[in-house]
Amino acid sequence: MRVIVGSKSDSLIAYNILEKRIIKSGFCTLCGACEAACPVSAIQLSEEKINRLHDCSEDLDLCPICYEICPHSEALLLRSLSSVADAPIRNEALGYYRKIVLAQATDPKLREQSHGGAVVTSLLTYGIEKKEFDSAIVSQAEPENPSKPKPTVALVPDDILSAIGSKFFPSSVARAYGRAVYGYGKTNIAFVGVPCHVLALRKMNAWQHKISGNLKITIGLFCFGTFSLTPLLEYITKTYKIKLSDIKRMRLSSKFVIETEKDVIRIPMAEIEDHILPSCRTCTDFTSELADISVGSAYPLKDWSTVIIRTKVGEDFFYDAVENGIINTWVIEQEPTVFERLIVAAMQKRTAALKEAKEMEEVYGYLPVLLLRETDALANIKIEEIMTRVVKTIPQDLTVSQFLELVAKHHHIAYPIVNENSEPIGWITLEEASKVEKQMRDATLVGQIAIRKLVAVYPEETALYAFKKMSEHEIGRVLVFDRADPKKILGIVTKTDLMHTLTK
Ligand SMILES: Cc1cc2nc3c(=O)[nH]c(=O)nc-3n(C[C@H](O)[C@H](O)[C@H](O)COP(=O)(O)OP(=O)(O)OC[C@H]3O[C@@H](n4cnc5c(N)ncnc54)[C@H](O)[C@@H]3O)c2cc1C
Ligand code: SF4
Ligand code: SF4
Ligand code: SF4
Repeated sequence: MRVIVGSKSDSLIAYNILEKRIIKSGFCTLCGACEAACPVSAIQLSEEKINRLHDCSEDLDLCPICYEICPHSEALLLRSLSSVADAPIRNEALGYYRKIVLAQATDPKLREQSHGGAVVTSLLTYGIEKKEFDSAIVSQAEPENPSKPKPTVALVPDDILSAIGSKFFPSSVARAYGRAVYGYGKTNIAFVGVPCHVLALRKMNAWQHKISGNLKITIGLFCFGTFSLTPLLEYITKTYKIKLSDIKRMRLSSKFVIETEKDVIRIPMAEIEDHILPSCRTCTDFTSELADISVGSAYPLKDWSTVIIRTKVGEDFFYDAVENGIINTWVIEQEPTVFERLIVAAMQKRTAALKEAKEMEEVYGYLPVLLLRETDALANIKIEEIMTRVVKTIPQDLTVSQFLELVAKHHHIAYPIVNENSEPIGWITLEEASKVEKQMRDATLVGQIAIRKLVAVYPEETALYAFKKMSEHEIGRVLVFDRADPKKILGIVTKTDLMHTLTK
């Protein structure tokens, strides 16, 4: 059994660390995983708070569970990653996956209700009807306050249909998962949640918690963040002079949209961003990188969702639904704008989170972020053992439009740029290219917008050194050069390569 680090009094009972680092510091996102996993029922989530029902040290000498499985602790991250690491494609912005497609429910009424592709609702109702799983954890709306998610153990299709649509507040779905196992005796459960919910479930599995074996499939949602329920609702009802019961529905487009019986209120995101939970500011996962299937919007397409299929379980289930006429699909390569926006959103979330995390670490002395922390093993691995040796470079006179076509075709989001003598001069990334106005993309060369920062490493240096260089320069990749010929590229190492190496 793993022992929690900390002072002697803290070290044996994880709750002390959970309380100090996560709960009291304001980083809890109320998923309820700690309640579901506690072996002596010492924790209860109620009224948007974690309550300790009794001092568990009276029952146990040592227990690391609640801190380790909390999605905002640094523990078990790499072990959790192994749940998807057999996928053939690794992408710095999107994680591991098999395929990305556009999809929508074939039933137009469902699409109308969801404001998206209603893929999640269709997959779940299909799975329940076909007995692929015996229950599904979804987030319905509280009847008296439709903005508030009501985590539910869905047993029949109607329970799933009542959960259609997104609610932008914390939902205790991991606690509902625990209820499905203990309260309902379910053994084959489908789970829907945002990335930190999915991580909590994967951590339970990495910990080999006894309830984790009952999980059949996880559907992860893309997520930019959730809002603090009571403060945001108070702000909205006061500022826009509406009653809570007037709110029929909330949607997110470029603005936060509130629909009442009589009106539609469109609030700019900047006006309410202070109400986003602190953990979301340092969260690097946009696309639920550890889910079997991830689903998000396909902006600017209406009525479609973007689906990232990551695991074999996800792939088999998804295509079974497609073959049975439940879901329509379309090729994302035909919609380069959707793909571009997806990558840019994921990279922007990651970049902003890493920046914020640095500042927060100084304030709290603790970093609630999904970062690669288990780095010791990297000290024993040489860069030459893990680098990718075939490095695709692109010439500096390629246009931005041509570069975007390359990205859509190969799904690589960054390339080294070389000059006319084939010497590397910088990098071009999708994020940089997307900043160029559409009408200027044919006339702008990648050499003009290159990031002219080439961080060099050498084959005999360690993977840990490469990781430190990436962290120091806030970049996701480094080129490996030949010491004898410093302009010659021998390979490339990315952060995802390092994660992959460690999970192996
Ligand atoms: C908090 C939050 C933020 C999001 N941010 C983005 C974003 O920035 N960009 C983007 O592309 N997509 C985002 N999404 C995902 C998007 O809103 C849709 O949920 C997703 O595209 C699935 O669409 P669908 O039509 O297939 O889902 P539907 O068929 O409508 O099903 C939605 C499912 O979401 C579940 N759900 C609803 N609210 C919650 C919640 N609070 N916690 C856990 N589960 C919930 C319900 O159980 C339901 O099963 C976000 C979702 C949430 C909940
Ligand atoms: S017994 Fe429960 S509250 Fe105590 S450390 Fe373990 S999981 Fe946490
Ligand atoms: S496990 Fe979930 S509910 Fe418990 S402290 Fe962590 S985020 Fe909060
Ligand atoms: S942004 Fe991250 S921490 Fe915040 S709700 Fe979404 S997945 Fe959880």
